[in-house]
Amino acid sequence: MMARRAPAQQNVCMSASALPLIAIDGPSGVGKSTTARRVAEHLGWQYLDTGAMYRAAALAVLRAGVSLEDRAALESLLFGLDLAQEAGRMFLSGEDVSEAIRSQEVTHLVTPVSADARVREVLVKQQRHIGASGRWVVDGRDIGTVVFTNACCKIFLTASPGARAQRRFLELQAKGQLPVLEEVLADLQRRDTADSTRAASPLRKADDAVALDSSDLSLDQVVAWIVARHQAHS
Ligand code: C5P
Repeated sequence: MMARRAPAQQNVCMSASALPLIAIDGPSGVGKSTTARRVAEHLGWQYLDTGAMYRAAALAVLRAGVSLEDRAALESLLFGLDLAQEAGRMFLSGEDVSEAIRSQEVTHLVTPVSADARVREVLVKQQRHIGASGRWVVDGRDIGTVVFTNACCKIFLTASPGARAQRRFLELQAKGQLPVLEEVLADLQRRDTADSTRAASPLRKADDAVALDSSDLSLDQVVAWIVARHQAHS
């Protein structure tokens, strides 16, 4: 199947008030990170994975044994939170935690950690600081709605739960794991519900974002679609 043609213009990169930034939001397992990284490579822009930042914050909470109810302890942990991304790797206090943040424990804990308004406040501030200079492709859940509302190009990437579960299943298999498709699907649905019903920055499409259903599209087609859309308006 061919990539769908980019629809009519909804946000414009030429506007003086728009940031040179492509925001890619969407539910878990839709392939946002891989897509965003590829779009950034294609354009020669930088890539920021905000999900990895929330995961690294959750890992820090896990390691410190801090309860989210203990506000003073959480506050102090957030105050000293040292996050960095370089060449696609995630660093916590200088340690490369790119693999550690993908563990089951972190994947479970990141849901309540990312629903915490104080955690979001701290990470959003860091994300805005990073995105303020240069050209960025940023993926997450609230990039177009909260973090960079003036991004010049906003994409809301979706795919059916079945298609997302199948992709994640193959990804885990490729890493040598033995996933069970039903469990992968249940985990995605748990995260979808939590992310879209939380009070702080719930997952939703920005009014000026364009939605792309990638259920029947290859990664190459999705990347080409986003690049074409961006270039048509810049
Ligand atoms: O993108 P990824 O699935 O690695 O993100 C991990 C978790 O971080 C998500 O399940 C979501 O709860 C949270 N997240 C968020 N806001 C973002 C990015 C991720 O709440 N901008």
